[in-house]
Amino acid sequence: MPQFAKSVTATVPAKVNLALGVGPLRADGYHELATVYQAVGLYDEITVSRRSAGSGITISAAGPDAESVPIDRTNLAWQAAELVSSQADAEPDVHIHIDKRIPIAGGMAGGSADAAGALLACDVLWRASLPREQMAELASELGSDIPFLLYGGTAIGTGRGENITSAMARGSYHWVFAVSDRGLPTPKVYAECDRLRTGSQVGEPTVPPSLMEALLAGDPIRVGESLVNDLQPAAISLRPELDLVLEIGNDAGALGSLVSGSGPTCAFLVADEEAALDLAVSLSASGLCSGVERATGPVGGAKLKES
Ligand code: ATP
Repeated sequence: MPQFAKSVTATVPAKVNLALGVGPLRADGYHELATVYQAVGLYDEITVSRRSAGSGITISAAGPDAESVPIDRTNLAWQAAELVSSQADAEPDVHIHIDKRIPIAGGMAGGSADAAGALLACDVLWRASLPREQMAELASELGSDIPFLLYGGTAIGTGRGENITSAMARGSYHWVFAVSDRGLPTPKVYAECDRLRTGSQVGEPTVPPSLMEALLAGDPIRVGESLVNDLQPAAISLRPELDLVLEIGNDAGALGSLVSGSGPTCAFLVADEEAALDLAVSLSASGLCSGVERATGPVGGAKLKES
């Protein structure tokens, strides 16, 4: 391995929220959350390469949705590189290439995955060796889902979702994802959630004990029964057709189904690979979604390769 890598590639998974409890709106504009994340085997690949001194940051993207990936400072990977450069006292002269496989604006934390990948890749490229706690802090500064993606697995997120505690979880789970080609902006879904809750008392969010027990036992049937997402009514209110998509999974005998995060991706937990294939066929045939992905979880967090 060369002493100073020319480039570092991070492979970072998507997430699904097995439970997403949304509490009251906080004074800082965020909602208090209690969530259970699971990292699933759908990956973005983020390669950070050195550029000549003074040439700054550039971004390119590949993959089916490449044209929707921002290539300016609004890209979270760009912001991640800038943050590491300021902490590591390194000049931010890098090209960031994103091979995009995670659906964009789909509630699967694709942009967050790219930020997590860029944080870790820049840390290695610049030999910064920032302590783990500092990386987690930078991650939470950039976005609520990013700290989880550094570690992956199955974990509980509190606060805005950025305070991570790993969950006692056994077993491997088969997922099918119905993807829409029209993303749902996360802030719009939270605003709709607030609108739908107008006049009702919103309590502190909690993680369902039944879900934690099912995960501890590694029981996919009980996990399926315990899936819950407080943002689902809001996502369906904005996209009524999501109800029909979820129905396809229920009719096909999925163990559980829910809108993933803020949507519009719908996630289905199924018994095995065969059930996943059958459901994927039904979803594709329905014409109600633009793509179908299959993945298992939990998987580990970001992985790095130097070249
Ligand atoms: P989450 O599940 O974290 O709420 P999401 O999966 O719904 O997020 P993303 O794919 O992360 O949504 O992107 C949402 C928006 O963020 C995009 O529409 C885009 O404008 C912006 N964005 C910033 N950086 C990226 C990136 N690296 N890849 C894709 N979108 C990005």
